[in-house]
Amino acid sequence: MAPGMNSLDASIGTQIPTKATIAFLQDLSRVLPASRVSTDAAGKALFRSDAFTLAGGAPSAVVFPESTAEAAAVMQVLAAHRLAIVPRGSGTGLAGGAAPVRGEVVVCTSRLNRIIELDLPGRTAHVQSGVLNGQLNDAIAKQAPHLHFAPDPSSARAATIGGNAAANAGGVHTLKDFVTSNHILGVTVVLDSGEVLTTRGMTGVHASPPFDLTALLCGSEGTLALITELRVKLVPKRGGVRTLLALFDSAGDAGRAVAGIIATGILPAALEMMDGTMIRVIEDAYHFGIPAGTTALLVIELDGDDALLDGELAEVRAVLTECHATDLRAATTPDDRAKLWKARKSAFGAIGKLSHSYCTQDACVPRSKLPLMLERIHQAAGRYGLTISNVFHAGDGNVHPIFLYDDCDPAQVANALAACREVLLAALELGGTLTGEHGIGVEKVGLMPAAFDSDTLAAFVTLKLAFAPSGRLNPGKLLPTDPSLAIIRL
Ligand SMILES: Cc1cc2nc3c(=O)[nH]c(=O)nc-3n(C[C@H](O)[C@H](O)[C@H](O)COP(=O)(O)OP(=O)(O)OC[C@H]3O[C@@H](n4cnc5c(N)ncnc54)[C@H](O)[C@@H]3O)c2cc1C
Repeated sequence: MAPGMNSLDASIGTQIPTKATIAFLQDLSRVLPASRVSTDAAGKALFRSDAFTLAGGAPSAVVFPESTAEAAAVMQVLAAHRLAIVPRGSGTGLAGGAAPVRGEVVVCTSRLNRIIELDLPGRTAHVQSGVLNGQLNDAIAKQAPHLHFAPDPSSARAATIGGNAAANAGGVHTLKDFVTSNHILGVTVVLDSGEVLTTRGMTGVHASPPFDLTALLCGSEGTLALITELRVKLVPKRGGVRTLLALFDSAGDAGRAVAGIIATGILPAALEMMDGTMIRVIEDAYHFGIPAGTTALLVIELDGDDALLDGELAEVRAVLTECHATDLRAATTPDDRAKLWKARKSAFGAIGKLSHSYCTQDACVPRSKLPLMLERIHQAAGRYGLTISNVFHAGDGNVHPIFLYDDCDPAQVANALAACREVLLAALELGGTLTGEHGIGVEKVGLMPAAFDSDTLAAFVTLKLAFAPSGRLNPGKLLPTDPSLAIIRL
């Protein structure tokens, strides 16, 4: 933690509070009712980590503002007491970005949950940052079924729009729809001083001089500011949809098919891949009748003008057949399609049947390097004696190896982290990145010096200090300012 920065007395809620704690809670009580400040053991347990459970700590307090003005007042109190802050949405993040690893105060947006305006003719929505992605899309569907907020992480029913923006989330349709930052027009944020800043965007097709601060704040993982409101783009759903399942006896053939489909010039809405381990988990849970011995599966979704789709589908089928697909199954009804996507989106959850604990990695490589990357993942699994299953956004080159381990066994935890490190460094070696959509958090921050040279890292830190000079906002996350916090080390 930077000099001059406090985490509150860890005794809050368990022992007699210290003077500093009493003073902080008194000041806080002037801006928030007691019902929206949690300092008890339940709060400490509930908010100790996000979905990356290997990083965690007891928060000093958890606070729940309901408006930008309240959030600003809270941030002013935190500034006066020089307390470090972790912004948090729903805590579904997979990189420890929302974990209060050093007892920071968690500012949770779950009560910032109002849809302020749906401007359907203008095709925008103005929402508070704690509105859930699924909640917004349900509200849009009631009034304008042809429109939606396009970012669709598999966690959409649970994750907040603020969390989607802060992590710059992707999803199964990122190949065509791009990551969240492309769908955010403007944000209102509270700086660590308590000042409020609003970036403006009208329709997303115009430039917004002088600097594109909206894009900068997207993906900043709570290190620059607390997002309290967002103005987001609503886009038309595309008319027709064709969804195809392709089975393979060889992962190499499936990899070649991915490259072949992209090479046709057709841009699928989604192009997802699963390996044999994952297929068996899905088959156990959903009974698609996938033959034993199938080692790779692709889900391909085409969308657009109905009149063109059957021609595109025939082209894709030809590539799949040429790459030795053993079976091709089209989803012929909306129910079939929904079942297919439910299976894909529930894949991480279904892994719970196989293992006590798991860690989902996230890295990108150029599509052409996917077969090599899968080979490197396979080698890491062998070297560290782990089972690894793969379900990933093949069209984006975004791999998600899932490392299975038992978190009660320190040796298995160490092996899982060592395997993660090897896989992430392999992605960099192949010309890729440390993350495609889950972010860096505290999990991967130790590897940032392998991804960026020291001048670039120094420029990132200068930029961070321009927004958050106190260093109190999500310290040690995203930028390697405190190497002792890193979970995976160089
Ligand atoms: C089962 C499962 C499936 C998933 N599928 C996907 C997927 O398909 N694609 C994908 O990209 N991700 C996926 N994720 C990861 C996660 O759901 C996303 O990163 C999501 O956007 C996080 O939203 P959240 O509200 O839970 O944010 P949190 O986990 O609470 O926070 C995430 C990060 O954003 C910061 N943050 C949160 N809210 C704010 C705010 N208001 N202001 C400033 N900073 C903030 C936090 O400090 C943290 O660094 C998945 C996770 C799970 C558990």
